[in-house]
Amino acid sequence: MSGRNVSSALALNPFEYPKAWRQKIIENVKLTPIIRFNGKGFICALINSRCPVGCEHCMFFSNMSEGKNSVNTMTERRLTSLMKLIRDSNTGYLLVSGGGEGFLEPDLMYRIVEETNADVTWMVTGYVWNESGTLYM
Ligand code: SF4
Repeated sequence: MSGRNVSSALALNPFEYPKAWRQKIIENVKLTPIIRFNGKGFICALINSRCPVGCEHCMFFSNMSEGKNSVNTMTERRLTSLMKLIRDSNTGYLLVSGGGEGFLEPDLMYRIVEETNADVTWMVTGYVWNESGTLYM
């Protein structure tokens, strides 16, 4: 496969085109049969790229300048695929991280908490919470 074909395949969103990504991995990653993967896996899931904090130092340049859409926010269908991957793989550590701010999507976060079977699931937030549960942005 030429480098150009690999580049064009990788331009596709893996949650929208998981079969294309799977095929490219199969075609390009060669493993010898003696290699076994018995350890626990790690998944870092970014469920949206928007954030109301908008830190200048944000490595993701997350802010609220763009309205919510299916590119910057994980859809229910893509989340179903993610949860299947987590269930089907030997996931030891699931990190739901930014940027953006995952708690902008409480329904998605709630569903992840309900469905994860990872040994450990972390939900990262850039918000500030006080002891009474009040949220400060
Ligand atoms: S994702 Fe984190 S670093 Fe980026 S703007 Fe939000 S709080 Fe700041």
